Amino acid sequence: MKIHEYQAKQLLAKHGLSVPSGHVCTTVEEAVQAYESLPTDLCVVKAQIHAGGRGKGGGVKLVRSADEAREAATSILGMNLKTHQTGPEGQLVRTLWVEAGSDIAKEYYIGIAIDRELSMPVMMASSEGGMEIEQVADESPDKILKAPFSPSTGLQREDAERLAAGIGLPSELVGQAADYLVGLAEVFCQLDCSLAEINPLVNTTDGKVLALDAKINFDPNALFRHAEIEELRDLHEEDPAEIQASKYDLSYITLDGNIGCMVNGAGLAMSTMDVIQLYGSEPANFLDVGGGATAEKVTEAFKIILSDDKVKGVLVNIFGGIMRCDVIANGVVEAVKQVQLSVPLVVRLEGTNVQKGREILEGSGLPIITATDLDDAAEKVCAAVKKAGAKS
Ligand code: GDP
Ligand code: MN
Repeated sequence: MKIHEYQAKQLLAKHGLSVPSGHVCTTVEEAVQAYESLPTDLCVVKAQIHAGGRGKGGGVKLVRSADEAREAATSILGMNLKTHQTGPEGQLVRTLWVEAGSDIAKEYYIGIAIDRELSMPVMMASSEGGMEIEQVADESPDKILKAPFSPSTGLQREDAERLAAGIGLPSELVGQAADYLVGLAEVFCQLDCSLAEINPLVNTTDGKVLALDAKINFDPNALFRHAEIEELRDLHEEDPAEIQASKYDLSYITLDGNIGCMVNGAGLAMSTMDVIQLYGSEPANFLDVGGGATAEKVTEAFKIILSDDKVKGVLVNIFGGIMRCDVIANGVVEAVKQVQLSVPLVVRLEGTNVQKGREILEGSGLPIITATDLDDAAEKVCAAVKKAGAKS
């Protein structure tokens, strides 16, 4: 789960980590008032969307007067901000964060992610602040220093100092920066984060170390422990299909291809996506309907898949283990009747009562293409989509 920069900064401040003071605004007038109430002449007007790279897209503006604040707020609020993380469709800006500007001496990068090979969180730090860290990792990986740490002991003070000094912070600020790194590691562990990134962390000309940007993501599986974090969710920033899916307890992720997939079990879903690619097409989504796929869930899953205009064919691949194939087949037939399917549908069932299930599908009178195994299913759906595409 993602949150906005201003929410992340509020969490950091609550933990005693320095961030500039600021105000959340949803109108131009509020932004002007925010500028007037802040103690510095230099302020920053910042678009709040769940994507980075806002500066380059025109979503971060430095202002030095109330008039400039008004101008910046007018241009950013309501804009469709496009960054390398929003995709070409961009994201509507509904909220601004207006904060006291800082006189930057130098920008740095610090961030924590889970290292899956080490099975541990790892603190990363770089002298190349303000740049995309992926680019630094590609072009000059030696400029990223790392310190893995155990959640039970936290980031070790000496590691924090080694990183702070290693990225070139002036020696008199190494202690302050090391405190920041240790504090960020504490936030990461306490709040079950999956990512905590400060880009840039800066030292100012008057000798302070503080975060000018903050991005914190949370592990959704741990949200039940953090009701206060779940409240920070902004549904405007999330994919409507994914929100709808979560209401029905379906794991759904939108992808770029044109074959809609309905599968039970994450592992089977992954292999289904692989096999679709093997036969020359791309999946439109990842969808795990779970072990107890009821007719209602199957119907809802169909609606969600078909709400995506890119979908030109659907592959249902279900293993009847806990669920029996005849029950699933009835669910599929029911769903197809309800949603008025207009694209080819291939169904592959395997497991308990599979024969009965296939008979239900074939006897339904509906244009359902049945398949016997995963290869057969992928081949049939890819061929059906190509054929339909050639006709239109
Ligand atoms: P992002 O583009 O979405 O990563 O947004 P950031 O919050 O990181 O802002 C982009 C850039 O704006 C930063 O890397 C800084 O160079 C600049 N910036 C942000 N806040 C300030 C500030 O208070 N003072 C100055 N001088 N520059 C700032
Ligand atoms: Mn940034």
